[in-house]
Amino acid sequence: MSAEEVFDVIVVGGGPAGLTAGIYSSRARLSTLILNEGAIGGQMVLTDEIANYPGVEKTNGYLLASTMKKQAKEFGCKIKANLKIKAYDLKGEIKRVTLEDGREFRSRSMILSPGGRPRPLQIPGEEQFKGSGISYCATCDGEFFTGKEVIVVGGGNSALEEAVALTTYAEKVTIVHQFDHFQAFQHAVDQAKMNPKIDVVMESELRSFSGNGVLQEVSLEYLPTRKISSKSIDGVFIFAGYIPNTADLKGIIDLNKRNEILVDQDMKTSLPGVFAAGDCIQKKYRQVTTAVSDGTIASLSAAEYLRS
Ligand SMILES: Cc1cc2nc3c(=O)[nH]c(=O)nc-3n(C[C@H](O)[C@H](O)[C@H](O)COP(=O)(O)OP(=O)(O)OC[C@H]3O[C@@H](n4cnc5c(N)ncnc54)[C@H](O)[C@@H]3O)c2cc1C
Repeated sequence: MSAEEVFDVIVVGGGPAGLTAGIYSSRARLSTLILNEGAIGGQMVLTDEIANYPGVEKTNGYLLASTMKKQAKEFGCKIKANLKIKAYDLKGEIKRVTLEDGREFRSRSMILSPGGRPRPLQIPGEEQFKGSGISYCATCDGEFFTGKEVIVVGGGNSALEEAVALTTYAEKVTIVHQFDHFQAFQHAVDQAKMNPKIDVVMESELRSFSGNGVLQEVSLEYLPTRKISSKSIDGVFIFAGYIPNTADLKGIIDLNKRNEILVDQDMKTSLPGVFAAGDCIQKKYRQVTTAVSDGTIASLSAAEYLRS
């Protein structure tokens, strides 16, 4: 790869959306470079088991990521990981990204797929029990809590909908919410309240997690009296919001008020030749399958842009 090389496509982010964009673009004989902060695979590698990726029997996230990476490389896609992007210049016909180490890469089109991360509670024990009782994805991990008792943290639509979904597996679901009212649509509130497996604890916040290897107990503060109590629990699902990894794109492309990238149905952003895909865009459902779909569309749209 020479310093002068201008790629057809640079993909920022090597999770399932970016890797899929890499597979499609390089297979279409477009010279493609994926730039990824951290290890390749994105949030997929955080999960031991992916059981809902069609056509692939229960697999682990690392394995699925490695296969996607291998596929992209076999089509000629170049991949650079463990780097940090310092600056973007996306307005002109030639797009530029500069890394913190000073290297610059150029391309005729760009696909942004930096993903995101669930908003943590940032309380003691959260890091320790992540994946060992604490989860941020009911669709992904609900089944592991079959017949068990779980807490759902949050009071928005996701929290209430996921609490109802979790009753398919869990014996009992307690929703813990900090305010005295929910911030969700009335039908979501009604559905949760009507469900006999769901209990609601309002005006309360979790303060810490504890256990022996796996999560066993939480401490809980009732805010009006500041009384702290503890509760034995098998699992906690946290829906305290979502943070897209788009901080360095503010002011460069259009984002919504939650900092999600605004795209049309072809994954076009507000700048010509710049596309976005995956968990970083404005959308409701965030899964490997939806990221892969977005990555496909973004790549096909980039190819069409380059042809025109
Ligand atoms: C614990 C957990 C379990 C999950 N389990 C499942 C499951 O079982 N099934 C399922 O379908 N979904 C699951 N999900 C959701 C799924 O992993 C995501 O929806 C999916 O990974 C999103 O893909 P993405 O490519 O858009 O983003 P990500 O997977 O977030 O990948 C983005 C990549 O971009 C990199 N990046 C970020 N910023 C930059 C930057 N500035 N420059 C360069 N690179 C950057 C990141 O390091 C990362 O590698 C789970 C999520 C979590 C957190």
